[in-house]
Amino acid sequence: MADSPYEARMLIGGARPPVDEDRAIDVHSPLTGARIAVISDASAGQVHDAVGAAQAAYDETWRTTNGAERAQLMHRFADLLDEHATAIGELESRDNGKLVRETTSQARFAARNYRFFAGLADKLHGRTIPLDQWETFDYTTRESVGVAALITAWNSPMQLLANKLAPALAAGCTTVVKPSEVAPLSTVYIAELLEEAGFPPGVVNIVTGGPAAGEALVTDPRLGRISFTGSVPVGQQIARLAAQNLTPVTLELGGKSANIVFEDADLDRAVVGAVAGIFAAGGQTCIAGSRLLVHESIAQEIEQRVSRRAGEIVLGDPTDAATNLGPVASKAQQDRITAMIAAARESGARLASGGGTPRPPGLADGYFVEPTVFADVPPDSQLANEEVFGPVLAMTTFADEQEAIRIANGTRFGLAAGIWTQDLSRAHRVARELVCGTVWVNTYRQSAAQAPFGGVKLSGYGRERGVEAIDEYLRTKNVLIDLSDEVRDPFQIKT
Ligand code: NAD
Repeated sequence: MADSPYEARMLIGGARPPVDEDRAIDVHSPLTGARIAVISDASAGQVHDAVGAAQAAYDETWRTTNGAERAQLMHRFADLLDEHATAIGELESRDNGKLVRETTSQARFAARNYRFFAGLADKLHGRTIPLDQWETFDYTTRESVGVAALITAWNSPMQLLANKLAPALAAGCTTVVKPSEVAPLSTVYIAELLEEAGFPPGVVNIVTGGPAAGEALVTDPRLGRISFTGSVPVGQQIARLAAQNLTPVTLELGGKSANIVFEDADLDRAVVGAVAGIFAAGGQTCIAGSRLLVHESIAQEIEQRVSRRAGEIVLGDPTDAATNLGPVASKAQQDRITAMIAAARESGARLASGGGTPRPPGLADGYFVEPTVFADVPPDSQLANEEVFGPVLAMTTFADEQEAIRIANGTRFGLAAGIWTQDLSRAHRVARELVCGTVWVNTYRQSAAQAPFGGVKLSGYGRERGVEAIDEYLRTKNVLIDLSDEVRDPFQIKT
């Protein structure tokens, strides 16, 4: 494999150009550190060609397809994703280190999202609007924005792509997709499935590469929408670059979500929810419940129970059914997380569990981080305010509901929050006060194709999934028709 690595090729206008040796990027296994594939760092010219292919496909075929035709292709593609879910899950797991059962179920969830948006594709109608002027007939149409650039992060490539590609295709957009160079393989894999489903060449193009390829893409003036999932600094940079052409942007960025446990909660459920909220995906999820806010009267019990469960988590090969937690996705990510653990210790937070970088037997080169719990974390500390994107939980106590809300809203992020309580009024009251895009009550990390998802503040703007998501790929045109046979002389307007 080291001598002739698997070449994960781009898809540009139906062609699969070979990886240029001078522009090759190695893709590494987070489990062993070994090179498992090679991709191209797309040149500006290749990115330009991909947008050109998308524009041509839009003008020549896709723009005039009807919703039912688009839906049929999307359903076929969803069926193929389901058929290939195991293969995709295994590939993604080898690429980003997440548990194979999670990546496989994400591939199936992606299929569900294509089906959901296929159902919307033939229902994109405008309105007729009665005006003050009786003689004028007014209606709106909802038209696709044309070419959409879809840029994803490494943590959940198939799911993040479905959040964007499904509504974009349903709306009638053609697309240029750029997966993360850290975990591009599942996205490249679906190129063949798109072809098999029958999408015309150029409707979906896939370019691979790093920041330069991304910048070449987002500065292309032919784009009608950029949808980005990734970190805050890159999201901010994309918004700045997109401003040159005033290209609209959807930003799904980071989070520092609060999981709030009130004293009246069902503690068995709350403990499981807290542990799953941060450790289920190794904390490498934007919605990680990375802050656990606990009422002071139950803080000791929760800390003990959460720490004990964290200590029981089995680290290992993510494709092994006995494993609870795989390695983090890259060496850079492992280094970043361990640096944040060290800084938290220095800042006075109390380490309740974990904190190390273990080497499970036979996996000495894997990028592992122990599930880590810090208690007594001051709300103004780095650990309580910055995204770790790793298996590190920051516990903080509160005295009453108002303080819980204040701490929960006290970061610059606003992606999600969890509330654990058996008091119905409190659940609604607190949900209303939380400044974020998603609130879970007595559950955490649940997603559904129908439920809109997105952030506020530094967590970004725009919505994915749910009927709201399709609006990101449509624009409204208003048409006014004078039904009279009068000559309307602008110089004779009565006042
Ligand atoms: P990242 O910002 O480093 O990279 C994301 C993507 O942007 C990659 O495809 C990368 O190649 C590309 N990119 C990098 N620099 C670019 C530039 N200058 N111009 C254009 N494209 C550029 O993020 P990451 O490390 O891959 O992912 C982790 C981050 O993603 C975390 O902050 C996490 O919270 C966030 N995330 C958010 C959500 C959400 O839905 N809100 C979901 C998953 C991950």
